[in-house]
Amino acid sequence: MDKLYIVVPCYNEEEVLPETVSRLTHKLEALISAGTVATDSRMLLVDDGSKDRTWQMIEDFHRENPLVQGLKLARNRGHQNALLAGLMTAKDHADVSISMDADLQDDIEAVDDFLRAYYDGCDIVYGVRNNRDTDTGFKRSTAQAFYKLMTFLGADTVYNHADYRLMSRRALEGLAQFKEVNLFLRGIVPMVGYKTATVEYKRGERFAGESKYPLTKMLNFALDGVTSLSVRPIRFITLLGFLLAAAGCVWALVLLILFLLGRPISGATVAVMSIWTACGLQLLATGVIGEYLGKIYLETKQRPRFIIETYLGDEGM
Ligand code: UDP
Ligand code: MG
Repeated sequence: MDKLYIVVPCYNEEEVLPETVSRLTHKLEALISAGTVATDSRMLLVDDGSKDRTWQMIEDFHRENPLVQGLKLARNRGHQNALLAGLMTAKDHADVSISMDADLQDDIEAVDDFLRAYYDGCDIVYGVRNNRDTDTGFKRSTAQAFYKLMTFLGADTVYNHADYRLMSRRALEGLAQFKEVNLFLRGIVPMVGYKTATVEYKRGERFAGESKYPLTKMLNFALDGVTSLSVRPIRFITLLGFLLAAAGCVWALVLLILFLLGRPISGATVAVMSIWTACGLQLLATGVIGEYLGKIYLETKQRPRFIIETYLGDEGM
């Protein structure tokens, strides 16, 4: 039986916390009495610098409820960093972690399937929602466009998976080796590797309070995702520059031939041709510089180049 930590980032969640804690307490008690997880399994509530009473409430829960642990960040660092802080704490204390949002939009009954896959040997289990009818049409279409864009730009993400996932301790240790500041967990976790599984669940409504992800945060999040995982946008600049410059050159050639054949050529045509060529060359040059910048950018992340899964060494070493 392994020790489970349920990691929950909380930002201004005073409205949902009592209900969340009581539901998670029931779930943990059920798992413990069924013998699925160890008796010292816990929920770890991470306060992401909330401005409301979230932290005081976590302190109270911790005092009254032995299953509740708290972690407080020094200031609001955003969902991804709060989650990472919680997971890195779980790594040092638990055998396996499950992360979920404080509003319990993700069906906590899926935890049973997560743990089944884990005991079957999976190190990472992705929760994948099989419905989006609780979202507004706007959120649904922007989310879909986002996944498409990510795939197009070469970033490997799991479709319809948010941050509801199980990670074993060694998967967390792998994750700990990614030192990047510009953090996008959904893109990084698949890079860790190991055996993985997906579990489908139905996503419900936030049962109280407001979404902590307004449009501006969502856009920032998407931009982080693209720029932290991919340097392809730079490549598009290079490509565009190349195409423009090439078109300009062909154009120049055509004009030259026409000129040699003694046909009349208007000054405007020549001017436009020059503009195309010059702009193209400039973009191309910018792109080339960008390519190097991109390399430096990826290099400064100091991502681990590999994570060893098994080591067959001598006995007793
Ligand atoms: N969250 C956080 N820090 C932030 C914003 C959000 O820790 O700066 C947490 C929030 O408390 C919740 C989770 O991230 O547990 C997801 O937020 P929310 O449910 O508001 O997002 P939505 O479901 O609307 O996308
Ligand atoms: Mg939510």
